Amino acid sequence: MHRVLSVDATLAPRDPGAPGQFGHPVAVPDDKQEEAKSRWKEGNFNVYLSDLIPVDRAIVDTRPAGCSEQRVHNDLPTTSIIMCFVDEVWSTLLRSVHSVLGRSPPRLIEELILVDDCSTKEYLKEKLDEYMLRFPKVKILHLKERHGLIRARLAGAEVAAGAVLTFLDSHVECNVGWLEPLLERVRLRRTKVACPVIEVISDKDMSYMTVDNFQRGIFTWPMNFGWRQIPQEVIKKNKIKETDIIRCPVMAGGLFAIDKTYFFELGTYDPGLDVWGGENMEISFKVWMCGGEIEIVPCSRVGHIFRNDNPYSFPKDRVRTVERNLARVAEVWLDEYKDLFYGHAYHLVLKNLDVGNLTQQIQLRKKLQCKSFRWYLENVYPELEAPLVKASGLLVNVALARCVTVENTTLALEACDSANEHQKFNYTWLRLIQHRELCLAPASTAGALGLHRCQGRTRSLAWLHRALAASQPGLTDHIVREQLPQPACLEADPSDKALRLNTCDSANPYQKWQFGNYYAD
Ligand code: UDP
Ligand code: MN
Repeated sequence: MHRVLSVDATLAPRDPGAPGQFGHPVAVPDDKQEEAKSRWKEGNFNVYLSDLIPVDRAIVDTRPAGCSEQRVHNDLPTTSIIMCFVDEVWSTLLRSVHSVLGRSPPRLIEELILVDDCSTKEYLKEKLDEYMLRFPKVKILHLKERHGLIRARLAGAEVAAGAVLTFLDSHVECNVGWLEPLLERVRLRRTKVACPVIEVISDKDMSYMTVDNFQRGIFTWPMNFGWRQIPQEVIKKNKIKETDIIRCPVMAGGLFAIDKTYFFELGTYDPGLDVWGGENMEISFKVWMCGGEIEIVPCSRVGHIFRNDNPYSFPKDRVRTVERNLARVAEVWLDEYKDLFYGHAYHLVLKNLDVGNLTQQIQLRKKLQCKSFRWYLENVYPELEAPLVKASGLLVNVALARCVTVENTTLALEACDSANEHQKFNYTWLRLIQHRELCLAPASTAGALGLHRCQGRTRSLAWLHRALAASQPGLTDHIVREQLPQPACLEADPSDKALRLNTCDSANPYQKWQFGNYYAD
């Protein structure tokens, strides 16, 4: 083994006074404000400053103490770096490439594959090819049609020759010693997927900023990616050090190293995912549930320009593309938990989203004998709140203190008895009030109520309960049917202990209901 190499070819004589040197912030001169402003949209960051900063600038070594002493094996696998881009800013792309080649041990880099995802900018064609002639390891793939990030990465992966694939965005700066610790993880076990700590290159002043330690990639419903710091008490209790590997429920997506054969064994990304978005969820669930691990390696650090909007066009609507991708992921990987996804993105239920054909993905999951999503939640991400229903148990009328009960196929109100199975209901994420396979539904006679065989994702059986806090706070405890010509509320008829639908009245206690247990708002 050897100590991690501190390769920084870019430490060679360079102008210490150049703008942005050492990752310092740069200010736009007063007389250039207009120009800087007008060029912002070329990349949705300060393109003017990027052009001012040397393509091989130095940045501060932000690794935690101890990283530079860490040891890695002499026989690390080689890697193909795959960097996809569409209409990337020239100086930013160059800085990305220079940082990879300048701060990696050359023998570990099999090649750097630039995948031009059918950019429209002229400078990304012959001019780029010509510039890169000075780097024999750089290969450029000009895609003839726009593939989108997901399929562009696959195009790169297909021609890659290295043992490991390392994916990077095209607006990054790799820090000193970034590569070996990633490859060390993959070498240790080929099912480990290693991510660097993603640091921040400011979109405004282009400064290179470090980030808080102990961050994990997580998601919240409906599958929104985010970062969460490991709680201080957990860090203390487990004596976690700044240099310790962090297991991650999901990866951010853009920057990671994965064994090439393992990537193909996993079936790569679902090729049915479009353009951008959700692919990080897909690969994360796939890796964890099918025998692998996702790790953040604190001694590997790469800066990335975070920006507020994608500077390129989406072939179809951006929001729709991401929603459809996420729905594909939910359908294939989430099992019974997919209701949480749809419940938190209820507008998708209404949309009749076409997610395309899933047969191959479902077959792949079977073939790989992947574990269940429940296993994932219990073992990888136990912190996520994921109750399978919103509420359950008895359904009590507030005025009568009596409970709804199912008698054969009809409904009645009787004395509450928590041991009585006929009185148990679930209020589901899809807004059904469900007893076994039967759902509470308006009957054919106006105002009457009955039971109907439940149907998952239709709105025809949906009820609102404790969901109107914002729009109609008076109806919080009510159970409201929105779908009828006139919204109507579930009401207990005190005379014959029956249920009926009536015009909603916030003051009427016969329209107020309570479930035995609530698990979510
Ligand atoms: N990209 C691409 N084709 C696309 C969309 C994105 O090649 O259709 C590239 C993009 O240039 C970038 C990477 O994929 O290098 C990730 O995209 P982006 O940086 O916009 O994602 P973010 O970092 O904002 O999540
Ligand atoms: Mn990016």
